[in-house]
Amino acid sequence: MLLVIFAVATNLGVPSYALMTSSKAPEIKSVKCLDGKMKITWKKAENAVGYKLYKKNGSGKWALLAEMKENRLSYEDSAVKDGVTNSYRLRAVYKKSESAYCNFSRIYMSVPKLKSVTNTASGVKITWGKCNNATQIRVYRQLEGRTNWNCIAKLSGSAVSYTDTKAESAKTYTYKVRQINGEVFSASQKSGVSLTVIGTPKSVSVKNSPDGVTLKWSKIPSVYGYAVWRKTENGSWKRIASVVGDSKTSYIDKKTAYGKKNSYKVRAYLSAKKYGCFSESVSLYSVNPKKPMVALTYDDGPSSSATSSILDTLEAYGARATFFVVGSRVASYASQLKREAKLGCEIGNHTFNHTTLTSASSNTIRKEIEDTNRAIQKYSGKTPALVRAPGGAVNQNVKSVVKYPLINWSVDTLDWKSRNADSVIAEVKRSTRDGSVVLMHDLYNSTAQATKTIVPYLIDEGYQLVTVSEMMDAKGIRLESGTLYTRAS
Ligand code: ZN
Repeated sequence: MLLVIFAVATNLGVPSYALMTSSKAPEIKSVKCLDGKMKITWKKAENAVGYKLYKKNGSGKWALLAEMKENRLSYEDSAVKDGVTNSYRLRAVYKKSESAYCNFSRIYMSVPKLKSVTNTASGVKITWGKCNNATQIRVYRQLEGRTNWNCIAKLSGSAVSYTDTKAESAKTYTYKVRQINGEVFSASQKSGVSLTVIGTPKSVSVKNSPDGVTLKWSKIPSVYGYAVWRKTENGSWKRIASVVGDSKTSYIDKKTAYGKKNSYKVRAYLSAKKYGCFSESVSLYSVNPKKPMVALTYDDGPSSSATSSILDTLEAYGARATFFVVGSRVASYASQLKREAKLGCEIGNHTFNHTTLTSASSNTIRKEIEDTNRAIQKYSGKTPALVRAPGGAVNQNVKSVVKYPLINWSVDTLDWKSRNADSVIAEVKRSTRDGSVVLMHDLYNSTAQATKTIVPYLIDEGYQLVTVSEMMDAKGIRLESGTLYTRAS
């Protein structure tokens, strides 16, 4: 039997004096944001014959949304907009009375528009449309074959993309995104977007070798193989090889364009011929290991006119040389140093103060080398790999303290002594062989003058004019720190 009261406290504690209002308000179970609608569910009110749901309209008045039979315990409101708060009230209807209202309101948060899920060099990139009313965005991931979803990122409400760096290569994941406002979560996409991850090869290196140009890269587990691409100066990228097997992480290019600058990049692929992203490209001047070669070296610079003139000659003939620079001069001739690097020449370390290392303390030796490397790095962006001791003076202590290969020479032009171009040219013509390291100094105009003859002469004789490191690589000589080299043979 229904108890009829004329004045009763509602569950909100506000007295209600409506006529024939009976019993307490119905109890709301949940108010959830779904895709394009708000779903309201409530508990069954005993003896009720139905329910009435009202919604506050734009002008602040209550409008009846639905009148429902007693077996309906939920309602879906499709008239919702992202970020807009909806106010509702629900009452139970009895045979001869109606209950108090249960008032409640909830902001509606729409499902974010998932735009793309793609493999990138740094991971899987997920993008979605901007959520204007979100205080937080959450990204979820599910591994193929699993049922659980993991929240992998909690981002600010303004975020529109996220890169998943922890996804494993050759595995398939599905991604979803939700927006949140305070305690209210939007629904997520019905099915999300799936993607098979393909990692990007890292630490790609390229080197001349006696067999051709050797490329190496990091292993990407479980991929089918790798595609190797090459671009020759002024040309376009071409796929030159497929390497099958995830642990085959090197390739020797025997058809490289010798004498030219070549760039390489690598990408992994799955058996389904799905390709990952390209690695960073790496470049080198390809040296033909089967043709003779010479390393011209210039010490004691950089200087203004001599260095510039020598670089003009090298550039005109597409030749390269190695400059063993004095650290204290680098800041003053930074533009020459930068140009050496830009033309593909090698920059070596010739100490900071042109100090004779055999009569210096170990601490002084270390400081001379490190200060110079820092200066070269600062002004050219290159880190020297080679040291030439002033005067070529090397003893056991120098070898043990200097943590770099020490490079002397096999052809001494004595250009510093003669200051005579003809005598420099004559010595080069007389003594140069395949694998020679020729010593000159880019301080003297006579040396710059001699270079104008030496470079075309050696090229006509069939020599490749290469840097010290290029020559050693092409001849298969592995340079060790603390070891003295005078030529490549
Ligand atoms: Zn010197």
